[in-house]
Amino acid sequence: MNKFATNFLQRTRYFGNRLFFRTYAVSSEDLEKIKKFKEEQAKIMENPNRTVNMLKDEFSRYRKGVFRPPEPKVPKFSEYVIIGGGIMGSSIAYALKNRAPDSFEVTVIERDPKYTRSSSALSVGGIRQQFSLEENIKLSLYSAEFLRNVKQHLSVLDDDPPDIQFQPQGYLFLATEDGVEQMLKNHKLQREIGAKVELLKPAHLKQKFPWLNVDGIAMGSYGFENEGWFDPWALLSAFKKKACSLGAQYVNGEVIGFEFENHSYEKGEEAKPLLQANYLYVKDEVGDIHCVEFGTLVIAAGPYSADVAKLLNIGQGSGLLSVPLPVEPRKRYVYVFNCDTGPGINMPLLIDPTGTYVRREGLGGKYICGRSPAPHEEPDVSNLEVDYNFFESSVWPHLCKRVPIFECIKVSSAWAGYYDYNTFDQNVIFGPHPYYGNIFFATGFSGHGIQMAPAIGRAMMELLIDKTYVAIDLQRFHLNRIFQKIPLYEQHIV
Ligand SMILES: Cc1cc2nc3c(=O)[nH]c(=O)nc-3n(C[C@H](O)[C@H](O)[C@H](O)COP(=O)(O)OP(=O)(O)OC[C@H]3O[C@@H](n4cnc5c(N)ncnc54)[C@H](O)[C@@H]3O)c2cc1C
Repeated sequence: MNKFATNFLQRTRYFGNRLFFRTYAVSSEDLEKIKKFKEEQAKIMENPNRTVNMLKDEFSRYRKGVFRPPEPKVPKFSEYVIIGGGIMGSSIAYALKNRAPDSFEVTVIERDPKYTRSSSALSVGGIRQQFSLEENIKLSLYSAEFLRNVKQHLSVLDDDPPDIQFQPQGYLFLATEDGVEQMLKNHKLQREIGAKVELLKPAHLKQKFPWLNVDGIAMGSYGFENEGWFDPWALLSAFKKKACSLGAQYVNGEVIGFEFENHSYEKGEEAKPLLQANYLYVKDEVGDIHCVEFGTLVIAAGPYSADVAKLLNIGQGSGLLSVPLPVEPRKRYVYVFNCDTGPGINMPLLIDPTGTYVRREGLGGKYICGRSPAPHEEPDVSNLEVDYNFFESSVWPHLCKRVPIFECIKVSSAWAGYYDYNTFDQNVIFGPHPYYGNIFFATGFSGHGIQMAPAIGRAMMELLIDKTYVAIDLQRFHLNRIFQKIPLYEQHIV
């Protein structure tokens, strides 16, 4: 078939007859825009000169020697569409394209291309294997190996290799007497899986980390390999650049609605709707609406994944659509301070039994710290303002108790970001939605997502292409547990 005919057929397929059932959209204003877009498309379809106009258009291009129509800013069709171009979306796009660069289209839709509010850009970038669940330990081990070889994986020809500033300084978790049993249990599992972690008694802790106050501490768990931190922005940029170099297309716009086809079936006297989603609406930077047809959709919209799920009627309908996605934004503050006489280069990322954490930032005596608020302290999530009183009342007292040299410090700056918090069991929500066979999730990381991104990208690629897990089995993270109301708690949430 010649190029002319192929282009023509692609168009007719896109504009071909579809029996739409209904449209969901974020707001009534967006719904109006979608309606207008559809009316305009219908007018084009009804225009008796449509075919003639298309042929004229094609011929005029051919006369100018242009054999392909201009590449649209927003593709009309893509086999894989990923909502969210943060670390998860970008890692998944990379893994899919890396597996088979020329076999299918991968489109990533991102509404905040400067990532001013995305969790990935506002993250602390810690990586550890000290988790309580086998899958989380394995995901993080896989990612650590990936990060060590990041230049090999994510370099793009003719560009400088990525420099993610991986600092393998370790993590040090501290436990009071109450936490020892869990620490021992975790340690056993972590060692069995291959994590390099050692348990330290208070005297040993004091010897190894003389700046540490071990009062009230019964045990420490120190990850001496594959743990530390890296620059999240550098990793995100590297994934995105590599994915694009392999052919993934990033679209700047917001997904505002879906269109469903209804394959309703008879049940008793009534007809029950059976929805299938293959079309979404994107609002671009200038407010124009575009329709994208997709084969498979991956929702990696971080803290806002539940909003996207709602657009798919998830949590709004009956039966399998009655259960909402339990993910919401939770604001977390990160405070920056200086201490020239602080613990210095060999300080691991320290986690006090209160959940207060601190780590070095660079080599100039700068540190960052924070603590997740207690449930009754959860701040308003409508903005990213920092509460400096929270540092005074809920972070600093624990910080200087544990590291007394931090008694005379002053916060120099701070920022806030959103955790993609899974309210059901604070764990990853991964895999297909049981109602829609073509819609998948990678969300709900609850504060430990950035480190898992390389492994999550790979797992999603395997699930979509091989239809099974090859590297790490993530079936326990599927949505089924939410439907069955069987939580899978991760004990080590910071
Ligand atoms: C302060 C802080 C510290 C953290 N520290 C660590 C740490 O030390 N270690 C660790 O592993 N993890 C950490 N995390 C968690 C980690 O950063 C997140 O789990 C991870 O970045 C989530 O990545 P994501 O791609 O799913 O989400 P995001 O980075 O938020 O990306 C999702 C993207 O989806 C886009 N989007 C949403 N809705 C739509 C829509 N309708 N249309 C188009 N685009 C849309 C958003 O604009 C966003 O850019 C931390 C998080 C925070 C906030």
